[in-house]
Amino acid sequence: MSSCHVLVVEDEQTIAQNVVEFLEAEGCTVDIAYDGKAALVRLGQQTYDVLVLDLGLPRLDGQQVLQHLRHQLQLDLPVLVLTARDALSSKKACFDAGADDYLVKPFSLAELALRVRALHRRATVAMPGGPLRAGPLRLDLRTQQAFVGERLVHLSPRCLQILEALMRDPGRLVSRAQLEQALWPDGPPDSDALRSQIHLLRRALAQEGFNGVETRHGLGWRLQAADDV
Ligand code: CA
Repeated sequence: MSSCHVLVVEDEQTIAQNVVEFLEAEGCTVDIAYDGKAALVRLGQQTYDVLVLDLGLPRLDGQQVLQHLRHQLQLDLPVLVLTARDALSSKKACFDAGADDYLVKPFSLAELALRVRALHRRATVAMPGGPLRAGPLRLDLRTQQAFVGERLVHLSPRCLQILEALMRDPGRLVSRAQLEQALWPDGPPDSDALRSQIHLLRRALAQEGFNGVETRHGLGWRLQAADDV
């Protein structure tokens, strides 16, 4: 489960510690939060691939964390909820609030790891019509919204087209001719039009902290792949 960054939110320290050790042994990078407020702080600062969320938590319970996560922070990372056996009604409320899976306590660590792995795999396989992803970038083709981490980047339709072309295959060079053809099927208005659009795209992405649009002079542009940023 390489490059899977997990946040574990669990107030029972022994359980939290066991989960962390097990997931780390599986190759995950893991952070812990011991209450709901601390979890939201972490989620606002850092990009995670999967959230493991206990329901009964001090200072905001799991359900409130979920609601905040989906509505205020607008995060779509997969969430695995940990719940007590008798809490069927809160389980339903959690799915309503946007949980992806749940485990009933006491659970086996191996099963938890399997579920985290499955959630991560599902989220990283590009679904048709689902968002494109490259490193910290995410482009939702349905809503035409681009994000660096969780920050929305304001882009013109042409800049979005360029970003889409680059994100279709991160790391691959996209030539000037390919981009001009995509943006202006009848030919660009002038020879600098594409360069100005790339400049606007770079500037908007840089404002949100992304500087990975690389120029290969005379060849084209590419997005630095996640492993060489
Ligand atoms: Ca608890």
